[in-house]
Formats: sequence, structure tokens, C-alpha cells
Amino acid sequence: MSCDFLALANAGIQGLHPYQAGKPIEELQRELGLDHVIKLASNENPLGPSSKVVAALQAASADICRYPDANGFELKAALSERLSVLSSQLTLGNGSNDVLDLIARAYLEPGKSAVFSQHAFIVYPIAVQACGARAIVTPAKDWGHDLDAMASAIEPDTRLVFVANPNNPTGTCFSAAAFTAFMAKVPSDVVVVLDEAYIEYNSGEDLLDGVNLLAQYDNLIVTRTFSKAWGLAALRVGYAIANEQITDALNRVRAPFNVNSFGLVAARTVLTDDDYLQRGCAVNATGKQQLQEGLARLGIDYIPSAGNFIAAQFEGDALAIYDGLLREGVIVRPVGVYQMPQHLRLSIGLETENRFLLQALTKVLGS
Ligand code: PMP
Repeated sequence: MSCDFLALANAGIQGLHPYQAGKPIEELQRELGLDHVIKLASNENPLGPSSKVVAALQAASADICRYPDANGFELKAALSERLSVLSSQLTLGNGSNDVLDLIARAYLEPGKSAVFSQHAFIVYPIAVQACGARAIVTPAKDWGHDLDAMASAIEPDTRLVFVANPNNPTGTCFSAAAFTAFMAKVPSDVVVVLDEAYIEYNSGEDLLDGVNLLAQYDNLIVTRTFSKAWGLAALRVGYAIANEQITDALNRVRAPFNVNSFGLVAARTVLTDDDYLQRGCAVNATGKQQLQEGLARLGIDYIPSAGNFIAAQFEGDALAIYDGLLREGVIVRPVGVYQMPQHLRLSIGLETENRFLLQALTKVLGS
């Protein structure tokens, strides 16, 4: 190499590692020659796609020689009606990862900082550092966000605070009252990003729904995704809802045609299929119960989760358990990069998949 091209990359990039996705099923099948492999590693919807979406995609394929609608007019209209917000408050992204990146690029630069919690979603540090901004990481409380510590950690150069409710990979969540108390402490020129990727799975009292709070807080951005409860992970559609000025800023850095035609059509269509959403949430609730009971039977501790996954805690290094599960044909997610070396994140699957996972765990722990 004539020079060190990695060293030439921006300073913020030097401390980063590429995002590690869950191991693909085909890769494990090829490596170990296994017939039956299941993947419970990426918090996907185990139901498969909505049948309405599959039909709509077939029809949409006639138009793939054309660019998609660059502004996602119809999807925004559908979201605007469903959420009772203006289309001009919506920013569409190639998954909500893209939206998180747009937010960082719009509000951060060298000399600015962003606050997020220990054990928070790994894309926050990536987005922040790639902009050359400083990450202020606050200690977790009971594995979840310590909102008091996060508010206190804000410095004069802080532009963004990232919170996720429920949080990945811990599954922890906070109440609407806790969030409102937190917002009261955040200066009005610091923008709070409330990541609601898993909101559809959350239930219980005093449930936080950020969209209801947008009228109250100018400095709030809510991000959501079609990848989880709506079952469209492969098509990459996410969005942000915020006031019109923030939305204007985000759209200035958005790549042209960042959401493809299939994604736009699928998202619009699945919004008309509430039955699909309800079925997925019901399967998740019973699957969570099944996994929790199974883990308890095996004496495995876990963090109570409001999402579609459970972080289970093992004695010692969880990577040995992860490898053992791979050999049994089960792919889960190690969370060492989240400073949780003793945990594995188990996505909640169908009843048969959860059973297969629990059987595999029993074998691995017994061997
Ligand atoms: N936020 C959180 C908390 C997540 O866990 C994920 C997915 N892992 C995302 C955002 C991004 O999801 P997507 O890009 O598929 O919308």
C-alpha cells in the first residue's frame, strides 16, 4: 500500500469498529453442514411478512426501472394520518439507522457532543464519532438508562441526547412520567432523540408514546421503524417525527431516493394491516412468557424486557454459550460490544423456535 488509507480517514473514524450484524443462517449451514438452523439474533418479526405486502410488492415490481418517489409522498400521507402529525414533520430513512445518522450529521460536528447511556444501541456511538463529535456515555442504572444522570451529563457543547424506549439490547424501558421529568431538565437547545424502534411491543401502565409529546417539546425527535413489529426489516424503512424546522434540517442531509420503491409500497400497505401488527405482538407476548419460563427453569437470569428480545445472563463468558448454540444450529447475538460480556440477546421467535432454542441451551449448559 502506498500509504495508510485507514489512517487518512477522519479522526472520529479511527476509534470505530464496523457494525456486527447477526450471523446469516446460510453461513452457519455451510460452516457446520447443519440442516436445521434458526436465527434468533436480529429482533426480526418471526411471523414472516404480511400477505398484503407480498401482493403489493408483486404489483410494484412493474415500476423498478423508475426512481422511487424521492419524497415518499404517499407513505408520509399515510403516516401523517395515522399519527396525527403533518407530512412536513416526517423524515423517511433507509431504516431508522439512516435517520439516526441524518440526525447526527445535521446536529453534530467536531467541538460538539452527544449524550447516551452505557448499553445503548451501538449505532449512536458510530453516528456520533463519524461526525467527529464527542460521545458522553453515562452509567446505566439496573441495565437501563439513568435519566437523571443523562440530564446532568449535558454540557454546554451538547447538541443531542439519544434515549431508546425500549432499549436494545437490554429491553429496559421507562415510563411517560419519568421521560417528562427528564425533559424538564434538558435545556431547550439540546435535541432529544427518542428512539422508539420497539414501541409496538411495549405495554403496561403510564406507557410513553413520544408522538403525543411532540406538541409539548420543540426539542424532541421521535424515531420509529418498519423493521420490527411491521415485519419489513429487509426493505429498510424508518422515519423521524419532529417539528418542521428540525425536519427541514434532516432533509437537507438526506441522500436522494434514500428509501426504495418496494420499501415505500410495503410500508404504506402494511399500515393498512393492523391485524398483522396485532398477531405479531400477541405471538411476541406468549413467546416472551415461554422463554422467560424456560430460562427460569434452567436457572438462567435475564433482564425483564419490553421488546421482542431478552438479554439472558450467564456465568462467565457468554461467548462459549454462543458457540455451543451455533453448533446446535441456533444463532443468537453476543453483546460484548455493549459491555455485556456475560449476556446473550435472544430474539423472541415462534413457539417452535423458542422451544428449539431452550432445548439447545439445555444441551449446551449440560455439556
Ligand atoms: N434503534 C434501535 C434501538 C434498534 O435496535 C434498531 C435495530 N437494531 C434500530 C434503531 C434500527 O433499525 P432499522 O434501521 O432496521 O430501522
